[in-house]
Amino acid sequence: MAKGQISVQTENIFPIIKKFLYSDQEIFLRELVSNAVDATTKVKTLAAIGELQGELGDTRIQVKVDKEAKTITISDKGIGMSEAEVERYLNQVAFSSAEEFLEKYKNQAAIIGHFGLGFYSAFMVAQKVEVVTKSYRKEEAAVIWSCDGSPEFEINPADKTERGTDIILHVAPDSEEYLEDDKIEGLLNKYCKFLPVEIQFGSRTETTYEGEGEEEKEVKTEVDNIINDTHPIWKKKPSELSDDDYKAFYRKLYPMSQPPLFWIHLNIDYPFNLTGVLYFPKLNNSLEVQKNKIQLYSNQVYVTDEVKDIVPEFLTLLHGVIDSPDIPLNVSRSYLQADSNVKKITSYITKKVAEKFESLFKTDRAGFEEKWSETGVFVKYGMITDEKFNEKAIKFALLKDTDDKYHTIEEYKELIKDNQKDKYDRLVCIYTSDKKEQYTYVNAAKNAGYNVIISDTPIDNHFMQHIEYKGENLTFVRVDSDVVDNLVQKDEKKESVLSDKEQEQVKEIFTKSITDLKGGSIELKALSPEDHPVLITKPEFMRRMKEMQMMQGMGGADFGDMHNVVVNTNHPIIAQKLVNLTEDQQGEMVDYLHKLALLNQNMLSGEDLARFVKSSLERLA
Ligand code: ADP
Repeated sequence: MAKGQISVQTENIFPIIKKFLYSDQEIFLRELVSNAVDATTKVKTLAAIGELQGELGDTRIQVKVDKEAKTITISDKGIGMSEAEVERYLNQVAFSSAEEFLEKYKNQAAIIGHFGLGFYSAFMVAQKVEVVTKSYRKEEAAVIWSCDGSPEFEINPADKTERGTDIILHVAPDSEEYLEDDKIEGLLNKYCKFLPVEIQFGSRTETTYEGEGEEEKEVKTEVDNIINDTHPIWKKKPSELSDDDYKAFYRKLYPMSQPPLFWIHLNIDYPFNLTGVLYFPKLNNSLEVQKNKIQLYSNQVYVTDEVKDIVPEFLTLLHGVIDSPDIPLNVSRSYLQADSNVKKITSYITKKVAEKFESLFKTDRAGFEEKWSETGVFVKYGMITDEKFNEKAIKFALLKDTDDKYHTIEEYKELIKDNQKDKYDRLVCIYTSDKKEQYTYVNAAKNAGYNVIISDTPIDNHFMQHIEYKGENLTFVRVDSDVVDNLVQKDEKKESVLSDKEQEQVKEIFTKSITDLKGGSIELKALSPEDHPVLITKPEFMRRMKEMQMMQGMGGADFGDMHNVVVNTNHPIIAQKLVNLTEDQQGEMVDYLHKLALLNQNMLSGEDLARFVKSSLERLA
């Protein structure tokens, strides 16, 4: 029997481990199973190069809970340890790495994963740990190492005859929740689902059906409960995989979700190592989806689903798996953001995603357009928040018009270049934020030969500003704004049927009768006789101010109902009827037309609306 002291520096590391890592206690299982996997992988490698005496045999790792004995046991048939190795690896290497780890990160609140803590994390839940181990080298005798949480340990001979290691945790009274099968199975499913060596946790009942019709009966069989898929798809070659494989894997990861739109298989080994599959989920036009659905693995060991610092913000909308041993896992976030590997990984993923979109756009434009209602939100978000992505996406981002046609920004500029310019020679993109509500305006704009795009998702305001800001020489105005009917058109403007003098007279009638413009103006326009006699437009600058304030959460300043009145001098009511009425009748008529136009713009409500309805009814009586 050998006795000894683990360390000289720290009197007792276990209470510190326990206290410090309390919130992340559960990772002990991940650490111990990972060690078992490492030991197994090593023995497999030895077998592969012919350096293993005897048979490799079954290498399955077993995890067992004994509720009565209050133990959790992790058994592997890996490389094992000799007495000298137990001394070296558990008493020196493992201990000093645990100590160093605690020393280094004691003061950092946020730590991603806790790799490196390894073996001693067992003491987060155990009051005593026993390691029974036998080396793959036949001449080495089996030993049992045990330690009760004080720095003293014991090593004794053991009667284990098979190669491998059993880690026996004697669970502490305050951690007895870990003696529940469900708890352990849950942790194995979370952390070990894709480890490369089979892990068995007891058995489970499988139900099948035999016979047909009346004869049919349930057959229950006990089968080994294997936790993991040892060959997850992200480790395979894309050429070996079918669409169904990708979809099936997605279902496995997110059983409740709708099928993904498409996916990207990541695979790179220089200048860093990274594999993974990222899925583009159905977003249903909203950014309100649950983020943090991407799972981060390191050599198939689950680390976290908090990937905010590793993938750019907009990409956290994606789902799937990233596996990279090159992402430092036991460091603080600020460090992570500055890490050059992480930066490279971030830009690699961004590039891959942009390339995927680009290739979909190039090879299947119709399919790309079809998906745009879902992918558009994402692409726009990406363009706004990520410069690199913007550079690529500017070529495939689409604008959809009211005839359901899609245009890239370049194509759109070409389309409107002769017809939609403002007085500063900027191209004017006319949009509707609500096709139904702005129906009259959309119609009028189309009659005037303009193209109108639909910009009706929550992100569109930001997106339009972004495009303007990017200096695309494009400005966006809403279809009911005062800019729209001041556009410089290639075709000559229509002549008014009224003489200048008559027009002046009309203007006077309107100015006299409308007194509640709240700062807006009255303008005469020679529109088509089919257009409305009176239209309301809203000053573009005002709407923008409001929207900006809303975006910044300031609650828009009150511009009241400030609006402009546009009088169509070619409409028969104006051109023929109005001028021939008595002064009183003119006042009444103008008021009526004004109210109708307001109503059309959804600007008449409450008392005003009630009064309008009442006077209309009186007219009919
Ligand atoms: P790490 O795994 O990061 O090296 P650990 O503290 O987890 O650190 O383990 C220390 C060492 O103990 C390992 O490097 C390994 O050599 C040895 N070890 C731990 N668990 C096992 C095991 N199940 N089988 C064989 N060796 C093991």
